[in-house]
Amino acid sequence: MHGSVTEYQMAAFLMAVFLRGMNAEELATLVDVMTGSGAVADLSSVAGVKVDKHSTGGVGDKTSLVVAPLVAALGVPVPMMSGRGLGHTGGTVDKLETIPGFRTDLSLSEFVRQLERIGCALIAQTDEIAPLDRRLYALRDVTATVESIPLIASSIMSKKLAEGIDALVLDVKLGNGAFLPEPERAEALARTMISIGHERGRDIVALVTAMDRPLGYAIGNALEVEEAVLALRGEGPEDLVEVTLALAAEMLVLGGACDDLATARTTAGTALADGRALERMRAVIEAQGGNPAILDDPALLPQAPMRRSVEAERDGIVLEMDVRSIGSAAVALGAGRTRLDDTIVPGVGFHITVKPGDSVQARERIATVFASDEAGAQLGTGALAAAIRIGDGEAAPLPLIARRITLEDVRSSVA
Ligand code: URA
Repeated sequence: MHGSVTEYQMAAFLMAVFLRGMNAEELATLVDVMTGSGAVADLSSVAGVKVDKHSTGGVGDKTSLVVAPLVAALGVPVPMMSGRGLGHTGGTVDKLETIPGFRTDLSLSEFVRQLERIGCALIAQTDEIAPLDRRLYALRDVTATVESIPLIASSIMSKKLAEGIDALVLDVKLGNGAFLPEPERAEALARTMISIGHERGRDIVALVTAMDRPLGYAIGNALEVEEAVLALRGEGPEDLVEVTLALAAEMLVLGGACDDLATARTTAGTALADGRALERMRAVIEAQGGNPAILDDPALLPQAPMRRSVEAERDGIVLEMDVRSIGSAAVALGAGRTRLDDTIVPGVGFHITVKPGDSVQARERIATVFASDEAGAQLGTGALAAAIRIGDGEAAPLPLIARRITLEDVRSSVA
């Protein structure tokens, strides 16, 4: 943080960890150094158990934009520090910044005051809070060093510890669009983060959820904000709503607002349907300088100038989706970065309206590409046609919520 270690040395360190891994002591040291690289928020002035949720990274995963205001609307404060796009996945910060005027760089005192006032703040790593993750995260994004259990675990947990949480719900992604696609590695990541949290006195629950298809239909920053707004209005796609309610239920129980998961899920469903979550998001957007009118008219979000349909080439069943390629294609269109100094093109991305198992007919529209120009439109249509495999037979999608992992599971796997 003092500038004595150059970026190329940091990149070499990241590659060494990526290739060799870390033992438990090394990882604990890295987490503590990253957490302590800036201020650790003192949220003792915010009443209640502070609970956040964090995803290990997905394509089309806009649950944070829905779950944070939803849980806050039900009385559990949510201090949420997120990241930008990473590798082929999207980032909550890039999505929020498509809302005209929205500031993700609140100072520590603004962050705390907003939590006291409205129970929810959505911020990025800053020079003040988790600055080392901010730098390592940006470097990992462009040096192919993301897919590493210690680097993901330290990145997530240092941010969460620095933002001042009492408890955390992790959404650990599984399947070909996840950084760690295999169940064993996804679960090992979950267990690693639960242990890190437990050793530092935090309650953590992980849900392992499907990323063998994008979540919802929209992929790309402004398109995802638009879909999150639909979900906040109670009109979101089924899978997005399902994962959101499952995560919200865990947060409400950890936060002490509900006694059991079933009641919590019903309570969360009601707050989505009756507009309380939407109104809390309005308060957050207003507080952070954004234009809350996007909640009433999402057409105020940045729009890509060009739209192109993707049609099924044959009758058949959607057998598989190559989610990593879909995410990488969105990055190539401008939804993410390939260099540190790249800027995001906010309106570009995809709407993919089929899921594995759906039957389609030749020439039926299965997706729309939102691009800045003809080259992007062609790149997007070609990538989606290759990534959405249609054929005969049966699809075998992963269960949307495959597993729930708690400290007891970690203890029994060690015993
Ligand atoms: N989210 C993070 O904050 N860091 C990672 O490394 C992956 C997902």
